[in-house]
Amino acid sequence: MKNLTERDKKHLWHPLTQHKLHSDMLGIVKAKGALLYDEEGNDYIDGIASWYTSMYGHCNDFILEKVQHQMKVLDQVVFSGFTHEPAVRLSEELIKILPSNQQKLFFSDNGSTATEVGIKMALQYHFNQGTKRKVLLAFEEGFHGDTFGAMSVSGLSVYNWPFEDYFIEVERILTPTKENISNILLQLSERLRKNDIAGFIYEPLVQGAAAMKMHDAEALNMILDLLKKHGVLLIADEVMTGFGKTGKNFASEHISINPDIICLSKALTAGLLPMGVTSCTQQVYDAFYSNDIAKGLFHGHTYTANPLACAAALAGIELLQSEQIQKDIRRVIESHRKFGLKIMLHPKVAAIRQCGIIFALDLDIKMERYGSLRDRLFSFFLKHGVFLRPLGNTIYILAPFIITDSQLKQLYDTIELALDTVVQDLPKDSSPTHHL
Ligand SMILES: *Cc1c(COP(=O)(O)O)cnc(C)c1O
Repeated sequence: MKNLTERDKKHLWHPLTQHKLHSDMLGIVKAKGALLYDEEGNDYIDGIASWYTSMYGHCNDFILEKVQHQMKVLDQVVFSGFTHEPAVRLSEELIKILPSNQQKLFFSDNGSTATEVGIKMALQYHFNQGTKRKVLLAFEEGFHGDTFGAMSVSGLSVYNWPFEDYFIEVERILTPTKENISNILLQLSERLRKNDIAGFIYEPLVQGAAAMKMHDAEALNMILDLLKKHGVLLIADEVMTGFGKTGKNFASEHISINPDIICLSKALTAGLLPMGVTSCTQQVYDAFYSNDIAKGLFHGHTYTANPLACAAALAGIELLQSEQIQKDIRRVIESHRKFGLKIMLHPKVAAIRQCGIIFALDLDIKMERYGSLRDRLFSFFLKHGVFLRPLGNTIYILAPFIITDSQLKQLYDTIELALDTVVQDLPKDSSPTHHL
């Protein structure tokens, strides 16, 4: 009996869901390691680590123990005027692993608020210095969250139409390739003459919501270099890419120009509790440091630096740096690489790409982003004990680091079976469509 699925329908409104088209929610009753269990006793490999959060596995004993301990000591306290050990220690541990120019941390509640704070920091940084820089720069097809600032800098989509009139001023540039980079730099140089751009927000190397689109690190570096020379603050949105997924602790480490501001969430707290962090350089912080109270950053959330979330983050960071997890990361990278070599030869595969433990393949069929293929694939995967959420024509894997080799094999085999069956009879893509 699908008790949860039925009871859910009465009062619940789910995120990113058109309930008239998708009414049945799968009732999940427990999770352990890389597995989710539904109310009928079926299990599913969590192939996307519950939106890139549970990287050390669900209900990880080490993390649970640390949080349980914290829970009995200090649960919650106002973070304005007060401080506490978990927050102080987390700041010490995070600064150790963040790019070397990061000095200060500002806490919030999730990825959207982390980017929202980054945007506000960039705008007020210039405001406090009396310079008129009101425009933000962002990549087309970027995703930075669902609050107003974050929506504004995200790529335009049908979902955000009702709100577009209320967006802050944003200009978008293409993600760089070896081919278009000189053009992008040329246009940017021209555009920068107006001296009105406050900041540039970007997902370094991998654009998650844009279907794990990846771009060239060297080309990105050239853009960052140019912008930095023109006083544009660089805001790296590492909400998705942070904490080991690209093979390094942060995607920004693949790039030589360091960001001024970094936004973190998702795997920050290892999938246990919601929290966001926006880190910045001393230079950014100093622009707010003043005898004038109004020059401070007057942004704050009630649960700022919640001690339990800090404890979860500290446990996660400890695990991330452990030999075992580093070994797991290398193992998953190598496993994906081998699968890639094989699956790229499949007639239904148009392209594959990989960055660290993030693996994606594009289907060689007509673009049908919101169509039924996605739903059919999604159901097919679930029926075969695998939780994957295809994005348009793209199937991607972003599994917990601790996924076992046999679980990886089940993911790969199921994807291959889907290509051979569900995708088999669909027409080939004749006109490559632009993802939005
Ligand atoms: C998920 C995500 C966000 C938004 O985070 P939420 O916690 O869902 O608000 C922002 N930026 C990126 C790159 C993300 O992947």
